[in-house]
Amino acid sequence: MTALAHTRADLATALDGVTGEIAVVMTMGALHEGHRELMRRARERSAFVLVTIFVNPLQFGPGEDFEKYPRTLDDDLAACRAEGVALVFAPSRDDVYPHGAPSITMHPGELGEILEGASRPGHFSGMLTVVEKLLLLTRADVAYFGEKDFQQLALIRRMARDLELPVEIVGVPTVREADGLALSSRNRFLSPDDRIAALALSRALREGAAHGDPDAVLAAAHKILSEEPGVRVDYLALTGSDLGPAPDEGPARLLVAARVGGTRLIDNVPLTLQKGA
Ligand code: AMP
Repeated sequence: MTALAHTRADLATALDGVTGEIAVVMTMGALHEGHRELMRRARERSAFVLVTIFVNPLQFGPGEDFEKYPRTLDDDLAACRAEGVALVFAPSRDDVYPHGAPSITMHPGELGEILEGASRPGHFSGMLTVVEKLLLLTRADVAYFGEKDFQQLALIRRMARDLELPVEIVGVPTVREADGLALSSRNRFLSPDDRIAALALSRALREGAAHGDPDAVLAAAHKILSEEPGVRVDYLALTGSDLGPAPDEGPARLLVAARVGGTRLIDNVPLTLQKGA
């Protein structure tokens, strides 16, 4: 049985009887296999898994897709039920922000200014603010986030660390379609032609990650992206696995953001660098 709470009062009532660990998966709904993998990972460890479904207006900039973001609550509930989720919290905007837009918000710091932060001003502040609120409202002991949003995961880890939040943050590798496309709620906006063009993102990352030399990694990825006219690259970046400068050798991350048709997509992969390889 999956219970549903729409208000923070209902959520509190549902949580009052819980004795064991509370595992939380935060989502914006339009659930797919990526979200479901997070639920499965949570369920493997914790008897009580709570999924939040909230399209957070604070993390969308003007002109972004807040209004048209897919909302599919009935299907989402069915997915949660199938994954053995104990409780779904699907609050309204007023329930999350009862006093209107908060005047005190999270400041993501330098890590929030690069990559997605540079392209989407205010996004990470809005994201961290709602994550902090939802961690407290859900009384999360452990929370699962996807590596698909790698910078988001890094910022949430840092927020938990820097602000002493009593929660364990677990990252889960990206779930992909068989052809490599990273699952995303926004993929449903892709036309059949867009869908083909979008494959260049994961292909570029895969080809790039097959190299060890930093220049060769970027050159290989850039070549594939530049050969696909349907893809407008926002950034292609090679960083350390903490999103700092890429090392000459050792673990690193290759990240891409691009527009395909009217849809903005992001993806990233881990890789190991070796100068001259
Ligand atoms: P969203 O609903 O897009 O805000 O995503 C909710 C959570 O699911 C975030 O922690 C995402 O990183 C994670 N997620 C989204 N897509 C994937 C994916 N393809 N693989 C793994 N995790 C994902």
